[in-house]
Amino acid sequence: AMTPKVALVTGSNKGIGLAIVRALCGQFEGDVYLTARDRARGEEAVKKLNSEGLKPNFLQLDITDVSSISRAAAFFRDTYSGLDVLINNAAIAFKEEDSTPYGVKAQVTLQTNFFGTRDMLTHFMPLIKPGGRVVNVSSLWGSVTMNKCSAELQQQFRREDITEEELVELMRGFIQSAQTGQTLEHGWPQLMHGVYGVSKTGMTTLSMIVARRTSKERPHDNILVNACCPGWVHTDLNDHTGPKTPDEGAVTPAYLALLPPGAKEPHGCLVSDKQVQPW
Ligand code: NDP
Repeated sequence: AMTPKVALVTGSNKGIGLAIVRALCGQFEGDVYLTARDRARGEEAVKKLNSEGLKPNFLQLDITDVSSISRAAAFFRDTYSGLDVLINNAAIAFKEEDSTPYGVKAQVTLQTNFFGTRDMLTHFMPLIKPGGRVVNVSSLWGSVTMNKCSAELQQQFRREDITEEELVELMRGFIQSAQTGQTLEHGWPQLMHGVYGVSKTGMTTLSMIVARRTSKERPHDNILVNACCPGWVHTDLNDHTGPKTPDEGAVTPAYLALLPPGAKEPHGCLVSDKQVQPW
């Protein structure tokens, strides 16, 4: 028998991730995996979708736990001989008024949003099948943040030939500057949700690096890799302040996940409202 196509969404027990799973259950021809770091919250979310007549599968997956990631990767390799659609959606954000020291906020936020996503890409990119789609849910706030960095840092983020290792050094440098109170001296902006913004600058840049590498290493496999912004959506992340519903926030991520067979673009882009955004 033919193995069915398969899609995976990280951090999909609630918010935009859950809405992406809902959209894929309706529109993707294949199995859809709702994943969560917490099994109970994940299974609860599956029940909710079941009550809407949808049938996602469930897998526990914590993107800050490399053993959880490698277990999940082995599962998709053994069960489906790979993965057709990967949506890296999971992220965290400290509240602005949270009194956690800035250096700790920086370390913890980047650990999930940047390094966790990077570990996902490291383990899963080799499993992405020809015609696969990879969507990294980033944020336009990452673009705002980059545009307020020093000219030197901006030039680094925008370089066509920036390597993953160089980007990792920039992210580590930010954490170190945050810990020693030297972010301004080192060219990082002082912004609302600044740490979150830097994590998304990093994630968008990483998405572009992975896209370029995929084109180079697998030029005939028609894999499309993009970052996107879901828009401002009311979820727990922002205490439900955003105007869009989670289902509206899922539109662009689902559009990128479902780009039709043979599509050549967008690839290596940042997309919002289904439109490629400047970087
Ligand atoms: P939520 O806080 O509602 O959901 C975040 C999800 O990520 C939760 O399921 C959470 O799980 C999960 N998560 C957090 N850490 C991990 C981890 N280590 N491993 C696995 N899952 C994890 O946020 P949103 O739905 O708003 O955010 C989804 C994405 O959209 C994020 O990348 C966010 O940055 C982005 N975004 C959101 C915007 C908005 O306006 N809401 C705007 C721009 C971008 P748990 O329930 O266990 O905490």
